[in-house]
Amino acid sequence: MKSETITEVKSGLYQIRLPIPIRSLGYVFVYFAKNGDHSLLIDTGWPSEECFNTLKESLSEIGSQPNQIEQIVVSHLHPDHFGLAEQIKEMNRDSKLIMHQADASLILDRYGDYRGFTKELHDWLAEHGAPSDELKAMIEASSEMLNFFRPPKPNLIVSGGESVKVGEEWSFEVVPTPGHTIGTVSLYDRNGSKILFSGDHILPTITPNVSLGPFYRGDPLDDYLDSLDTVDRLDAETVLPSHEYIFSDLHKRVQEIKNHHRERLNECLSVLENYNQGKVSMSGYQIASKLHWYSGMWEKLGAWERRAALMETLAHLEYLKRKGKVTEISELNEDGKPRVEYALVGASC
Ligand SMILES: [Zn+2]
Repeated sequence: MKSETITEVKSGLYQIRLPIPIRSLGYVFVYFAKNGDHSLLIDTGWPSEECFNTLKESLSEIGSQPNQIEQIVVSHLHPDHFGLAEQIKEMNRDSKLIMHQADASLILDRYGDYRGFTKELHDWLAEHGAPSDELKAMIEASSEMLNFFRPPKPNLIVSGGESVKVGEEWSFEVVPTPGHTIGTVSLYDRNGSKILFSGDHILPTITPNVSLGPFYRGDPLDDYLDSLDTVDRLDAETVLPSHEYIFSDLHKRVQEIKNHHRERLNECLSVLENYNQGKVSMSGYQIASKLHWYSGMWEKLGAWERRAALMETLAHLEYLKRKGKVTEISELNEDGKPRVEYALVGASC
């Protein structure tokens, strides 16, 4: 291939690098499989002209066009993955836009009712201790993007186990891997190349964000760890992720990520033990501000990063709560608003 944006992973299977405006990542990989007239695009990139043009030029080098794409799988409901999905789908009336039911059911809540979404998120962050002077920036971090988005309208909903076929050549099994979002899917070529499209579920060095929040209740970290076990049981030989680079030692990476979360859980417990300055309970925000983050110390994190860090900390605290290590204390503030704090089990409140 001439272009620097395309890598032919295998005959008829291409990795395409698309630009995205997320500083820390810079690009997303989408994958394109082609067999005769049949084709599949896995993820679509950011909803921008630059991204669309890069995709269009790359496809044309491969001998295809956006309006010829037969099937699109969106691995999960994040804008660098679904961004252009609706636009591409509409270019071909017969195309299928495939998503997992759990993420599909969130589309209207997240992207159809922007006011409702921000209100819910605002209250949630406030409840968990985010100071009022930071809340506005935390919420606004996503508002600019949301205005620009076209929510995807999937016309084929999957729940796991289905096969996505590309002519006679490829048959990818839908493997649900919830955790990064509640409806994240990976795709696995079980009977052929043993290639696994891991989306953001597993990346070679970054650990994907796992967040508790208004749109992912329950126990996201427990889901995520289960999903690590799910892919660990596969015989995948090559892993094609959405960021960083292609890798092969899946089992080793699964162990590394598990270790990371084990360490993070212990770090949360030691913060509760050591930093409560005479108080017994701490808010999620206070705990998050004492943890070590890849992107730097808490003081250096921007609003968007703090929001993700807080929600990830809450996922760890929820997991510890369900394991009986931490209790959650819900009270009403002086102003009548709910406030949630966490304490070690056995600490006297
Ligand atoms: Zn993502």
